Amino acid sequence: MDSSVYVFVEDLRGEGVERVLDRISAYGVRGITVGAVHHASRDVTPHGLSRLTIRHDGAHFPPPSDLFAGLRLSPVPGYPNALDGLREACAKRSMKLHGWTVFLRNATLGTKHPDVTVRDCFGDRGSLTDLCPAHPDVREYAVALARAVARLGVDSVVAESLHFRPLKPQRSFVPLGPMDAYLFGLCFCDYCMRRATDLGVNAEVARDECARIVGGVFDGDPPAQGEVTRAALTAYAGPEVVAYARARSETVTTLVSEVASAVADEGSKLVFIDSTGAVKGYTDGLPTPGLAAHDAWQLGVDLVALGDLVPAFGVLAYARDAARVADDVGAYLRSVGKDREVRAVLRPGYPDSDSTDRLVAKARGAKAAGALAVDFYAYGLVPHPVLDRIPAALSEAGVHGLTS
Ligand SMILES: [Zn+2]
Repeated sequence: MDSSVYVFVEDLRGEGVERVLDRISAYGVRGITVGAVHHASRDVTPHGLSRLTIRHDGAHFPPPSDLFAGLRLSPVPGYPNALDGLREACAKRSMKLHGWTVFLRNATLGTKHPDVTVRDCFGDRGSLTDLCPAHPDVREYAVALARAVARLGVDSVVAESLHFRPLKPQRSFVPLGPMDAYLFGLCFCDYCMRRATDLGVNAEVARDECARIVGGVFDGDPPAQGEVTRAALTAYAGPEVVAYARARSETVTTLVSEVASAVADEGSKLVFIDSTGAVKGYTDGLPTPGLAAHDAWQLGVDLVALGDLVPAFGVLAYARDAARVADDVGAYLRSVGKDREVRAVLRPGYPDSDSTDRLVAKARGAKAAGALAVDFYAYGLVPHPVLDRIPAALSEAGVHGLTS
């Protein structure tokens, strides 16, 4: 069974490539998934060079000029030498190298080019972090970025944020229900509306209905009750809004298809990660009831369609409960197809795992449900004693590289 640990370039810069790889290799892990393109963040890093690490939006390699010549969007420069020697250092230890790539979450590009970001039902562009997957310039950028990471010689390009993202205001003292927040997060840019119209949806009606409902809550109407489901959304916002939301999957499916082909062209393979598991369980490891595979459509992710186009998927199994991890992996496999590679991404410590036993149970559950790999998130974010749980998770769960 395959395995990897997620690693940030700041981990490599802080501790050094050799030391980080020696430690991960000693756990019996078969590879690393390195953040080749990452988003801005400010993180507690318990054994990092600094204990509070500021990350910037950035691609941590020199972008090949032939890929981005003539494109309006090009990668934000990160640490250009951060990955130097990494491929060789992994090969020396018979470890795989995967290139983790954050695609459409980029406040630096969005601030510089607001017209490529999402536009809400009121006509506002208030989420400059979120590039719209329907915008042609964004799509060209995503394909070129995927090629650039594949050319680093990675075993796979691991795609994060290659779909629509949920609304994330930093402050809101309006009690928006889950459905209100969902409607407020839908993109109504010209490109999204045109694509929906081409699919026979009345996009203007959908937009006006969203603005009427969300505007009503802003004016004091009671917020929606209950989680987002197609049935509840139909009852709350009407069939045109649901049709509009569903039309978004065509935008995402075609984009992912182009990216997967580009990656294959460059001799690598795409691992697609949808953020639904993180939306549900990121904060406390207590995901909302619906399984990630069943709710992925809300971000424009059609797993059944993608199963025909993408060779591998990462499931963000951010949950305390081992049975939930198994259920999420199982539902994913039923959606994308049993012959697809599904990798379970586990957090070995807080807030998902309070002990080695719990991590072992989750790795075992993922394997029993059909996962072909477990990945651990993430090297620099968790204390060394938590990382030390990994060997047990791999061997006691029977997922150790040597036994499969
Ligand atoms: Zn849009």
